[in-house]
Amino acid sequence: MLNRTLLVTCLSALPASWSCGSATPPAAPASASAGANAAANADTPGETAPATGRSVALEDVGLSTAAMDPSADPCVDFYRYACGGWIDQTELPADQPRWSRSFSEIQKRNELLLKDVFERAAADPGDDPITAAIGAYYGACMDEAAIEQHGIAGIEPLLAKARAIKKWKQIGAVITELHRYGIYPAFSPDIDQDFKHPDKITPFLYQGGLGLPDRDYYLADQFAKQREFYAGHVARMMALAGMSEADAKRAAASVMKIETELAKVSKTRVEMRDIPKLYNKIDRSGLAKVVKNIDWDAYFAAQGVPELTDLAVTSIEFFEGLNGLIKRATPRQWSDYLQWVIVRTAAPTLPKAFVDEQFAMRQALTGQKEQQPRWKRCVRATDAALREYTGRKYVEQRFSPQSKQAVTMMIRAISDAFAAELPGYDWMDEQTRAGAAAKRDKMAFLIGYPDEWKTYPFSLDPKTYTENWLAASRYDNQMQWEKTKKPVDRREWNWSAAMVNASYHPLRNTMTFPAGILQPPFFNPDATIAVNLGALGMVVGHELTHGFDDNGALFDADGAMRNWWSDAVAKNFDDKKQCLVDQYNAFEVLPGVHINGQLTLGENIADLGGVKLAYRAYKALRKDAEPVVAGGFTEDQQFFLAVGQTWCSKSTDEIARMLVQIDPHSPPEFRVRGALSNLPEFAEAFDCKPGTPYHPDNVCEVW
Ligand SMILES: [Zn+2]
Repeated sequence: MLNRTLLVTCLSALPASWSCGSATPPAAPASASAGANAAANADTPGETAPATGRSVALEDVGLSTAAMDPSADPCVDFYRYACGGWIDQTELPADQPRWSRSFSEIQKRNELLLKDVFERAAADPGDDPITAAIGAYYGACMDEAAIEQHGIAGIEPLLAKARAIKKWKQIGAVITELHRYGIYPAFSPDIDQDFKHPDKITPFLYQGGLGLPDRDYYLADQFAKQREFYAGHVARMMALAGMSEADAKRAAASVMKIETELAKVSKTRVEMRDIPKLYNKIDRSGLAKVVKNIDWDAYFAAQGVPELTDLAVTSIEFFEGLNGLIKRATPRQWSDYLQWVIVRTAAPTLPKAFVDEQFAMRQALTGQKEQQPRWKRCVRATDAALREYTGRKYVEQRFSPQSKQAVTMMIRAISDAFAAELPGYDWMDEQTRAGAAAKRDKMAFLIGYPDEWKTYPFSLDPKTYTENWLAASRYDNQMQWEKTKKPVDRREWNWSAAMVNASYHPLRNTMTFPAGILQPPFFNPDATIAVNLGALGMVVGHELTHGFDDNGALFDADGAMRNWWSDAVAKNFDDKKQCLVDQYNAFEVLPGVHINGQLTLGENIADLGGVKLAYRAYKALRKDAEPVVAGGFTEDQQFFLAVGQTWCSKSTDEIARMLVQIDPHSPPEFRVRGALSNLPEFAEAFDCKPGTPYHPDNVCEVW
C-alpha cells in the first residue's frame, strides 16, 4: 500500500505491525465507580459538592495507583513515578518489540474485537457483501494449508516479467507494471495537495526502493551487522522463491548494489523534514528529461492518468541518480532487484518459510522475540486491505456518540486555550499573530470515522490469498491516482477508523481522531475532566500544535506553503526551536545513544504545546468547580499523572536504537520529561526545587 506519510504528522509513528496486541484476553477498561462521574460533574447545576472538596481514590478518577512507583521522586524522574509500577509488573510480550499502556493495550482490545467479527464473517458470510468480503479476505489469510499449496503462484506472473529483463530498456516497463500493483521499487508516489495550491492535487514522486529501514543502514558503520544479515536474508528468500543457491547469492549482491546506490542519492531523515526543499515542481516533460530511461507516457497511462502534466519530486538528485543507475547497473542486477522487491512485498501472503524468514529479518532489526500469532497478522492485513469495511464494523461496536461529544468539547476547549494564549506571546508581532489566529479559526477536525463509507469493487477468493492482496493493493494504487481527477477532499480519510493514532495534515489544516484512539486510557467516559484532558487532551493539543510546529508554520490557514511570518518573528521562532533541539539532543536513551533533536523537533514542539494547551483547557473547564482530591493528589497532580500514565511503555534495546534513527517522535519517557519539565505549572504542582530534572534552570517554550 502507498506510504502516505510524507507530510502528515501522527501521534505515534510506529507502523501498526509493531504496536499491536498479544493473544491474552482483553484488558478491562480502566475501572471507575459511579463516584467518578459525580466527581467529573461536580460543577454541574443541581449537584451539591461538599464545601471542603471531595476526596476519592485515584482509581475513581481514572488513574492507576498500581501503575505508579511512589518511591521515585517526581521531580527527578516523574516518568518512573507515574509508570514505575506498570513497568515492573508488565512483561514485554514475546511477540512485541515494544509495548505501551495506552496504544498497545487499546490495539490489543481492538484486534480482539475485529478478530471476533472477522471469524464470524469467514464462517458465515451470509448475503451482506461487506461481511462476505471481510470473511473472504480474512479466511484466505488464515487458510495456511491453501497458502502452502498455492506457493508463489500468485506472484509468478510478475516475477516472470522481472526475470525476462535482458536489456536496460525493459527495466522501466517492469517498474511501471509493479507500481500498477502497488508494489514500489525505486520510488513511490504520494498523491496529495499541491504545497502551494491547496485547491489542486499534485502527485509527488519520492525517493524509495530500500528494503532496510533507512538510507543510513546501507552507509553507516554502525549498521554493518544489520547490513550483512540483510544480504543473507535476501539470498535465503530468493532461494525460497526458486533460485539456485548460486543465483540467490548473486541476486543478494545485485540487491545490495542497487539499494546502496539508491541510498547514496537519498536524503537523510532530517533532510526529508526540510519541506521547502522537498517541493520540486516538475512537469511531465521535465521529468522525462531528468529520467530519460523510463517511458513516462507508458508509466502514467498504466496508472490510469495518461493526461497528467504536473508533478513534484522529493529531489532532482535522487531521480538523476536513479536514471543513471538504470544504465549503470546491469539488466541482470535490475532483474534480481525487481524480483526481490516483489518477493519481499508479497512475503506475508506466501507460505510459512517466507514468513519465517521475513520474521528473522525483523528480529535482527527490532529484537522482537517471537512471531505474532497468525490471526493478529491476518486481522491487521484485512484491516489494511479493506479499511472502509473493517472500520465500519469497528465503529458499529466501539464508538459512542458520547465519545464524539467529549472529544468535540475537548477540541473546542483546547482551540480556545490556544486563542487565549496568543495575545501573551511577546515574541510575536500583530501581523504574525493574526496569521496564527486565522489558522486556528480555519483548522478543521475529523472525529471517529469518514462521512461516507467507500466500497471495494474487486472480487475476492477465499482460496487465493496472494491474489486477494494484489487486487486490494492494485485498487489502492488506482484510487490514489484517481484523486488527480477530482477536486481536493478536505474530509478524506486515509486510515482505518479502528486505528490507534491521531494526525494533523498541514496541507488541509485538519486534525483526525479515529474511533480507534478514543478509548481508555486515552478517553474514558468515567474519568474526570482533569484525567481525560491529561490523556486525550494532550493528544488533541499535540495535533493542534502541529499546525504551528517548525513545518506546520510553513503553511497558512488554507494549507498553502506561504510565508506568513515577519522576519523578526521568524527569527524569534528559530531561537525557540534551537532551545528545544539542544535540550533534546542532550537526552540519552541508552548509554551513548542520544535523541536527534533536529529529527524530533516537530513532534517535541507538538508535545510541549499539547500538554500546555490541555492544561489550560482543563483549568478553564474546571474554573468554578469544587476541586476533587484523589488518593491525596490535587487535580493538577492528577492531570500530570494522566499525562505520564498515558505514555508508560517498554521496548527492546534494539528497537529503541532503531527508532532513535528513524522515528520523528522522542521515546515515550522523554516525551513526558520534555513536555512536563518545560511547563512551570508541573514544578509547582509537585513542589520541585529549581535545578531538579523536572524543574531545570533552562526552560524552553515555543507555544
Ligand atoms: Zn505528532
